[in-house]
Amino acid sequence: MEIFRIEQSKIESVDFENLAFGEVFSDHMLSMDYEYGHWMTPHITPFGKIEVFPSLCSLHYGQVIFEGLKAFYAKGDVINIFRPEKYHERFNKSCHRLCIPGMSYDLFIQTIDELIALDREWIPRRKGCALYIRPFVFATESYLGVRVSKTFRFMILTSPVGAYYKEGMNPVRLITPGEYVRAVQGGLGMAKTPANYAASLLPAEEAHKKGFTQVLWLDGIEKKYVEEVGTMNIFFVIDDELITPALEGSILSGVTRDSVIEIAKDWGITITERRISIDEVLSASREGRLKEVFGTGTAAVISPVGEIQHEETLIRINDGKTGTLSQRLYDEITGIQYGEKTDKFGWCHSI
Ligand SMILES: *Cc1c(COP(=O)(O)O)cnc(C)c1O
Repeated sequence: MEIFRIEQSKIESVDFENLAFGEVFSDHMLSMDYEYGHWMTPHITPFGKIEVFPSLCSLHYGQVIFEGLKAFYAKGDVINIFRPEKYHERFNKSCHRLCIPGMSYDLFIQTIDELIALDREWIPRRKGCALYIRPFVFATESYLGVRVSKTFRFMILTSPVGAYYKEGMNPVRLITPGEYVRAVQGGLGMAKTPANYAASLLPAEEAHKKGFTQVLWLDGIEKKYVEEVGTMNIFFVIDDELITPALEGSILSGVTRDSVIEIAKDWGITITERRISIDEVLSASREGRLKEVFGTGTAAVISPVGEIQHEETLIRINDGKTGTLSQRLYDEITGIQYGEKTDKFGWCHSI
């Protein structure tokens, strides 16, 4: 690996008490090109601009994938990276769907480890804060024909991020997207690729204008079954059953989703992965059986849902407050990440 260090760190100029999400980047970034059918030597350089031709194919046709994971400062100065194997598995799945070459776990984790070790001072020490790690790959040939590129660039950026919930967990308000759909089975919903986000921008803007935090996505065919919330997976507690939509091709397999499922099983909670219609959610609410709803994702970990608007109906969940299971799951996952709870599943990669 080639490393070109910055001369003067910019860390002094960063206000670690008021970190927003993804606005500040650490001193270095990693780049690795794919040429002649294989990944070349990675190099680390100061964070900065990259030069591309305006004919860069990925700007025009979106042959891009990304990942998002986190590193934490745990007790005893240990750095914990949460479940990198699982993120790598999804990285390769996304690559496959977008005709991008994948890579071995060894190469993936080696590039992350090197960059994190170099910029370790950028990992915030406060509980609730973390260093967000953003690996991504984009096609690098310059042409306007629609075909698979022969060359690619893999990059990793890291960004210190603050506590998602500054004043404790704040339940969000959701609205179903009416005429819009995000993904369909056989499409790109199972891949972590910018196209899914592009599809979500206009519906999200309209939801914000109506006073809602996020869109509750329904399936693209019948517009009946719940799929995801914004950029998170979703869970419902009905009676004593924890339910999450099954992965049927249009839903992203969230690592946080998987962690919640594993922990719930371990706690002896009935967890079912199945289709769940918006009508079932509304009638469970009417019957007083809908106890909690929460989203899961790397950024927020657990995001409680306080209200859902579907067509003419507005339902309120748990009186708009964070549910007990939501809180317990949040405490467990973050406890493992910060090395405060036993990592019985062996999820943390420590450096
Ligand atoms: C990243 C992402 C999620 C959450 O996945 P995590 O691995 O838990 O961060 C859910 N849905 C979409 C569309 C995503 O891009």
